[in-house]
Amino acid sequence: MKCNRCSQEIQEGNSYTHMGETLCEDCYLDVRLEVKACDPWAVHSATRFRERSALKGTEGLTDLQKEIYELVKRRGKVTKEEAIEDLNLSEQEMRTQLATLRHCELVKGQKEGDKVYLIPYS
Ligand SMILES: [Zn+2]
Repeated sequence: MKCNRCSQEIQEGNSYTHMGETLCEDCYLDVRLEVKACDPWAVHSATRFRERSALKGTEGLTDLQKEIYELVKRRGKVTKEEAIEDLNLSEQEMRTQLATLRHCELVKGQKEGDKVYLIPYS
């Protein structure tokens, strides 16, 4: 069985179904968190910039991205909605920032029961 989005091979029992798609856990969490790059180019250049400059951790992030990352780290886990409220962001802003943080491998999703939390990547 293959993930409909990233074509990664999924092991039996590790697949998720969402709106008729069969997804691996990573893609499923992305969908649930709506990690969507509204501006894929911005995410791409941020990621590339960090790679080229060999930046680590929060180096090279915008202040807002740092704030989100710090919040997730401080709390250990937080839902997207909580983070939006805490930092006074719009849904749109949060998605864009989250896409970058996800690509920079700083923040990822974790499923617990029916909820999806943002947790530190490592
Ligand atoms: Zn996938």
